This record gives sequence, C-alpha cells and structure tokens, in this order.
Amino acid sequence: MSDIIQLLPDHVANQIAAGEVVQRPASVVKELLENAIDADATVIKLIIKDAGKTLVQVIDDGKGMSATDARLSFERHATSKIKSADDLFKLNTKGFRGEALASIAAIAHVELKTKQDDQELGTTIVIEGSEVKSQEVIVTPTGTSLSVKHLFFNIPARRNFLKSNTVELRHIIDEFHRVALAHPSIGFSMFSNGTETYNLPPSNYRQRIVNIFGTKTNEKLVPVEEATEVLIISGFVGKPEFAKKSRNEQFFFVNNRFIKSAYLNHAINSAFEGLLKDGAQPSYYLNLTVNPQTIDINIHPTKTEIKFDDEHTLYAILRSAVKHSLGQFNIAPVLDFDRDANLDTPYSYEQKGMPSVEVDRSFNPFKQDTPPTKTVASSSGGSFSSPSFKKDSGASWDGLYVGLESKGTKTTTDFSEIHFESQPQTESFFKNENEVEQKQTTYQLNNKFIISTIKSGMLVIDQHRAHQRVLYEDFLRHITIKEGVSQQLLFPLELHFSNQEIALINQLKEDLESTGFIFQSIENETVQITGVPVNVPESEVSIILEQLISDVENEVPDSNFSATDLLAKSMAKSLAIKTGQSLTNQEQEHLVNRLFGCKEPNVSPTNKTTFVTMTVDELDKKFM
Ligand code: ADP
Ligand code: MG
Repeated sequence: MSDIIQLLPDHVANQIAAGEVVQRPASVVKELLENAIDADATVIKLIIKDAGKTLVQVIDDGKGMSATDARLSFERHATSKIKSADDLFKLNTKGFRGEALASIAAIAHVELKTKQDDQELGTTIVIEGSEVKSQEVIVTPTGTSLSVKHLFFNIPARRNFLKSNTVELRHIIDEFHRVALAHPSIGFSMFSNGTETYNLPPSNYRQRIVNIFGTKTNEKLVPVEEATEVLIISGFVGKPEFAKKSRNEQFFFVNNRFIKSAYLNHAINSAFEGLLKDGAQPSYYLNLTVNPQTIDINIHPTKTEIKFDDEHTLYAILRSAVKHSLGQFNIAPVLDFDRDANLDTPYSYEQKGMPSVEVDRSFNPFKQDTPPTKTVASSSGGSFSSPSFKKDSGASWDGLYVGLESKGTKTTTDFSEIHFESQPQTESFFKNENEVEQKQTTYQLNNKFIISTIKSGMLVIDQHRAHQRVLYEDFLRHITIKEGVSQQLLFPLELHFSNQEIALINQLKEDLESTGFIFQSIENETVQITGVPVNVPESEVSIILEQLISDVENEVPDSNFSATDLLAKSMAKSLAIKTGQSLTNQEQEHLVNRLFGCKEPNVSPTNKTTFVTMTVDELDKKFM
C-alpha cells in the first residue's frame, strides 16, 4: 500500500488555524488593535462597516513595516515579538503567536498599507484567501493601515453563524473598550457606518473611564491603590450605591492585558459584601501589575484567561485593597440613595439579618380575616405606611403592588378605570362562587407560596412566578395593540446612562412607548421621561430600565430575538411581587384569579412551573 499522509497546503492550514483566532468580526478588531499598540502607535483609528461584516479597518501611526516584513507578516508563525521560548515568560507585547494576520488573510480580503518613518515610500499588499494578489510601492503616511473586508467570504457556514449586527457590534465595542481602557495614553477613535461613536483623546485613567462610560461615571469612582512585593493594584471601583445589574463595567487588566477571572471577580464581590443591593454587580476597572514570570498567558488561544502562580495571595491582597478603599472613602452602608429607599428590600433584609425562612404569622387556618403583618419593603427604618389596598372592586390590581408603592411617589391614578377582563371559566375552577366570597380559600405559605383549594384537591402557586406570568401577558398585550396607558409625571424624570445603554434604549423606544412610557428626549447620556405606564411607580423606572438593559445584554439576543417579548419579560420580572412579600387574602385571591385568566398559566415567562396541584386522591394515598 502506498503512503497516504500528506502535509496540508498552507492556505488550508491557515484556514483551520483561523477558526481558533477569528470567531467573529470582534476578534479581528482585537488582533488589529493589539498589533497597532505593539507597534507603539500614539493614535489609533478603528473603522467599522455593518458591524464588521463588511469592513474592519485599523489605522495607526506606529512604526510600520519594511517591504519584506510586510510580506512576511502574513506568514504563519511570523512574528517580530519573540525569538525563543524563553521570551514567552517576559512578554511585554500583546501578540506573540504570529498567527493573527495569517489567519485573517486566509478568510477575508485584506489590504495592508504601511510605511516606516525613515522611508520615503511605503508598501501595499492585497491578499484574498491567503493568495497574494499584489504588492506595490505606494505613498502613504508613516504607520500601518490594515483593512479586512468580506470576512469569512470563503467559509459560508461561518458567515451564516454570525449574529445580528447589534450583537456583533456589541462584541466589537466590548473589545474596543478593553483595549482603550488598558491604554489611556493612546488616543483612540471609532467610526461605525461613517459616524464617529467614540473619540478618546490621550488622557489619564480616570478620564479614559469617564470618556467611555459617560460623564456621570466620574462621581462614582473610588480609587484603589496598593503596592506589595507580588502585586501592584491601581484603578477604581464603583461606589456601591451606583451598582447596576449589568456586568458590563467589570475590568481586570493584568500587565495591560484584559483578562477574565471568576476567581478574582469573587474577591471583589466579597469586598463589597453587604454593600450591594440584591442582584447588583460591583463595577471595577483594575490594573494589576505582576512579574511576567509569575503568569502564564498561553493557556487560552484568545488570551483572555491567564494562570497565576499564586492566586490565593492575589485574591487576599485584592480583596483587602478594595475593602480598604471602600472603607476609606466612607462607603459604609449608605441609605440616602437618590432614589426611594423603599425599593431596597433585599438590602434591608440583609442589614437586619432577617432569617430567610420565615413563618407567616398571618397564616391561621382557624381564624378569618386575620390582618396580615406587613413584612415588606421597608428599608429606611420602617417608614413604610400601610398600603392603600382598595377593599372594593374587582380592580384590586393595585393591591398586588403594595410592596412596591412608595410614599413619596404615590400616584393619583384611579385604578378602577383600568379594565382587566376576568375570564368566566376561572371562577368554575373553584368549588363554588359563594365559598370564594365567604371563606378564606387561599393561604400564604412562607410568604412564597399561595395555597388554594380546587374541586379535586389543592393548588400550590409560586407567587413570584405567577405574578410574572400575569404581568407578562398584560405587557405583551399592551405592546402588541399599543394600548399602554400612561400616567403623566409632574416633573420629568431624568436618568443617566452610558452612550451604549442609550443606544439600546433608543432601539427599544417604540416598544417601551407602547407600554406607556413617554420619552421627552434620549440623548447625551440622559433620558428624560415624562410619562410612565400606569401601575409602574416612578421610583421603579430606573430599575426597570436597568434590568432591561442587562437582560438585552446578557440574553445575547440573536436573529430570532423579539424586543417586545424581552421587554415584557424584563418588566414583568422587575415588577412582580417578590418571594418574601406577605399578601392579604384578597391579594392572594386576586393573583390566583388573574393567573388562571392567563393564556398560559402553568409556566412563568421563562418557562418555569408556576403552580403544582395535589389531588385528593394523591392525598388519600399518602394517608394509606
Ligand atoms: P503577532 O502580533 O503575534 O506577532 P501578527 O500576525 O498579529 O502576529 O503580526 C505579525 C507581525 O506583523 C508582527 O509581529 C509585527 O511585526 C507585524 N505587524 C502586524 N501589525 C503591525 C502594525 N500595525 N504595525 C507594525 N507592524 C505590524
Ligand atoms: Mg498580533
């Protein structure tokens, strides 16, 4: 038999390697920006068309390449950055594999223009799918311009797997942020479809953060500085009261390289312990400097994870440095938040050390009409006044908001004006109508479940999930038929967001308006709101929008993502009564009725079980 093993042709090998290096347009952005930095550029310009699907171009004023180097730079394992394996352990450049340009050129149309400072003329090379189409002498400024067009043109499967432009652009912006944050002394600009989206002049670290994330960021930054033998830390953490739900502003840089580390993230979280509201994420922008000999950045091809020799020590130093800063800057628990403190329920729970499992004192099956103890929603020293639950009416809807209503922002909406259909068949679900009227048919268990009797036995309903379902269907209906009812605000509500978040809000604006939001303006990091949906307390608005932004960002919306659906889910999640909230009998009954008026009562909007049944038969069996 003849031999069958062959060496793969270079262009095939490159295409295979490209799969590792280039996952999406953002990977190209990262590689090109890093090359520009390694070339000692002082000004770097990033140009994007169609979220990088049509064009990614990076122009730098760095040291450029000679004609020979220009040609060599597209060969695999061609690098000027290391010469031997030893160099790997004293890296001070971003690149070292010599793979990026070869990989990119294998799967795109690439045009390079480059000139060194001491040369009159420069070089241009055009390569398409590893094939050199031309190499010429040209007149071009000192530095390098590399444009990458038609990414994945020869791998249609890859191209088809790219997500929507919104998602791909997000990834690009993330990379841009990381690189720009790691190098504040370099000027960066970014253009997307002809519009300048970022212009970051050379500056100090603080200014760089503010230029990226918005002027309002300035007041929330707390400096962290620490120098020990093994680790130097410098940078900022966000004050706890500004913490948002999104993890967008969490950055570790190790020796100027962005890294992800769940372990070090944990160190920060533990330094913030007790200071954050439920679900809020600390923001941090921290530069760690360690001896390059003590890290191995080679363990991951895209190089965002690194291995430290002594993680435990780093953890301890980091944690104590952050704690120290938070303490020094008087960031002890602050309760005078700008917004209504009544909203910070989970936080106050923590502060008071309230046990997480609690017996509901209002639960007394032998007694009728026990006034339930209110255990909810008061964080600023019990200033919560008794809720204005209307005893009359089938429109006891507002009762479900008791925990959310806040004194200061009590609206004057007449809830009886809002009509909610109650579906006839729901009534027959219960033994008989009269009984519902006369007798307590629901009980609350642990401020979490509602127990209700049905003909065949009993129901156990998860109050939080059930309410999410109810609200979700309401919002969906409002959005689809654009019937959301607004309540006008006396004074416009002004909220601040980063430009990126503003862009998202703009995208969702129309849907938000159909739920009842009225925007006066959305610009310059500021949103002015003059109307909110009926039933949405003003003080909840910022939480709703934050939750929404974080949901859009985290749920990685792809092509079949529906903004409407996400919005409805997100708002339902924000506004639904929480576990731990005690409800009056009427509220419980109303929730049960509303749930079974829903189209899909059995599951929450995120497909979790809302209730379980236990039939008399099943119970009988248990007593056998
Ligand atoms: P690596 O960065 O790992 O060395 P690359 O494939 O990204 O590998 O680049 C190959 C080589 O091309 C680099 O080592 C560098 O010498 C040269 N190069 C790439 N981009 C630039 C640039 N913008 N300016 C100057 N030289 C560059
Ligand atoms: Mg490189």
